[in-house]
Amino acid sequence: MAQPYDRSFNFSAGPCTLPVEVLEEVRDDLLNYKGAGMGVMEMSHRDKAYIGIHAEAQASLRALMGIPDNYKILFVQGGATLQNTMVPMNLLGNGIADYVVTGAWGKKSHKMASLVGSVKKVYDGADNNFSEQPDLNSLSYSDGAAYIHVTSNETIHGTEFFEDPSALPAPVVCDMSSDILSRPVDVSKYALIYAGAQKNMGPAGLTVVIIRDDMLERTPENLHPMLDYRLTAENDSMLNTPPCWGIYVAGLVYKWLLKNGGLTWINGVNKAKAAAIYGAIDRSGGFYTGHAKADCRSIMNITFRLPSDEITELFVKESKAARFDGLKGHRDVGGCRASVYNAFPLEGCEALAEFMDEFARRNG
Ligand code: PMP
Repeated sequence: MAQPYDRSFNFSAGPCTLPVEVLEEVRDDLLNYKGAGMGVMEMSHRDKAYIGIHAEAQASLRALMGIPDNYKILFVQGGATLQNTMVPMNLLGNGIADYVVTGAWGKKSHKMASLVGSVKKVYDGADNNFSEQPDLNSLSYSDGAAYIHVTSNETIHGTEFFEDPSALPAPVVCDMSSDILSRPVDVSKYALIYAGAQKNMGPAGLTVVIIRDDMLERTPENLHPMLDYRLTAENDSMLNTPPCWGIYVAGLVYKWLLKNGGLTWINGVNKAKAAAIYGAIDRSGGFYTGHAKADCRSIMNITFRLPSDEITELFVKESKAARFDGLKGHRDVGGCRASVYNAFPLEGCEALAEFMDEFARRNG
């Protein structure tokens, strides 16, 4: 199926496909941003034009997610991975933090935080090979925990929770790297949300942190400034040169979402996209088997296996030839993974489902 600019259907887990409309706007403004005489990549971050881009990106994200006034939006670097360290450095103090380990990313968050201070795993899904999401209200948490860390979407295993945590006994910190902006969330249920930009927001190199004001009071004195949320907030994410380019592109992606109907709109699209592919898994009579349990199937990362390694290899090879790119699963889970982030088109999911039906008929 022909795609604009002869592009493939890109199922990469991130960095990943971006909205064509946004890329076209970026292309048009690449050499001279709205008459500024230079492109955004070349502009001083103290330039008035850039300051406007920075503020507008924050305002658009605030509108899109309904971020309350008592939260700051920070633009930082170091990926979501650095947040695994910054979160405990800023929020933990001498206390203990609880980690809900639902997959490879939660596991990594826990491990990195353990290098900073006291942490406890209050759930570990390793026994079910990370195919489930627990009921967060049924876990037992540490008395007076400094915070509870959760991962809303486990990118590698393809599980996701859809209800915002509520009535938990400590502030909730959420790694939303792979499902932020894919559906509406109630930000007020979280003390801190972080996400790398390179899935639903823009290019790699930008990380977004949404932090409730009272959390900023926890930052200890004498942290390195670049690791300090409070200083970052006080300086409006301009302690040093911010990732200007990423912020600019993310700002355009936020506007693209707002223009089309916001998170309720994209959630409807994402559900239809995921349903198309899960449909092909479910009607295959066991040829494809999904990794995630039905109630926590991710709408962003769809993980499935085929009957053997040989058939999996053939599937990846033939799908690539048919212009479906990036379907090979992560080595931790095996099989295949279709990542269908916000900008991935519904037609691509329908086309893949058809390809899967046909492949199963030939090889089943
Ligand atoms: N958390 C999740 C849920 C992720 O999917 C990823 C990246 N795939 C990370 C953290 C790490 O992000 P980064 O590469 O931006 O450090």
